[in-house]
Amino acid sequence: LLRTDRIPHIWCPGCGIGTAFSSCLVAMQASGIDLTKTVMVSGIGCSGRGAGYIKLDSYHTTHGRAIPFATGMKLANPELNVVVFSGDGDLFAIGGNHFIHAARRNVDITVVCVNNLNYGMTGGQAAATTPCMAKTPTTPLGNPETPFNLPLLAYASGASYVARWTILHTRDLTKSIEEALTRRGFSFIEVLAPCPTGYGRRNKEKPLDSLKIYQERTITKNGAHPAEITLDYNRGITLGKFIDTERPTFLDTYDKTCRLSFPGASE
Ligand code: SF4
Repeated sequence: LLRTDRIPHIWCPGCGIGTAFSSCLVAMQASGIDLTKTVMVSGIGCSGRGAGYIKLDSYHTTHGRAIPFATGMKLANPELNVVVFSGDGDLFAIGGNHFIHAARRNVDITVVCVNNLNYGMTGGQAAATTPCMAKTPTTPLGNPETPFNLPLLAYASGASYVARWTILHTRDLTKSIEEALTRRGFSFIEVLAPCPTGYGRRNKEKPLDSLKIYQERTITKNGAHPAEITLDYNRGITLGKFIDTERPTFLDTYDKTCRLSFPGASE
């Protein structure tokens, strides 16, 4: 129902984005939210093309700016369900600052991040999520940096709903997105996904290498304490729903403070 007829799509064979996107669309339909009042916002990159494949009002925005664009839409029209679907490079490198502040403010939007551990579209360069020591075109001897552990970042920034799954866990992933869509507040779901083209140019990664890691080195711990949310590609990656809580959204507190102080505003 939600898919467009824009075939062929741009994603490479073996890419995980299609599976993540499909879970997102199934969740949107299953959640019962009013799709006539739902918009999807994407940034730049392979995952950022998602907005082009959905039969809804959708916006393919500039690099790193999906979250501020989505925030503006939600504040201008609080009745909208606003879904951000984008990649790790877009949301956590150039867009990282927007992410932490939207989570801190508890802006009522749902953010789904496909994390393929690199800048896939531009050739597999190292990103803020690339594993330490991974060889990429920009780190030919190995990446000296430590990657973000995204659920921990969301957790510490104040998100109301936080989960991490892989594209091998589509039922859990779909359920999480569905739950997030019906919650108030800032929701974040990370989806680990293979990028056999970008990352593989230098690292010779095959799609199955990632899939093997997701199969053998992941452990599900719903409600895990932050110290238990590990991200070690050799030893273990924690999956699950980590946070599901309620606190006032940005619009709740804004209405009680700023709106009443405008000249002419009335209670
Ligand atoms: Fe997917 Fe990587 Fe190809 Fe982009 S470059 S479409 S992330 S496989």
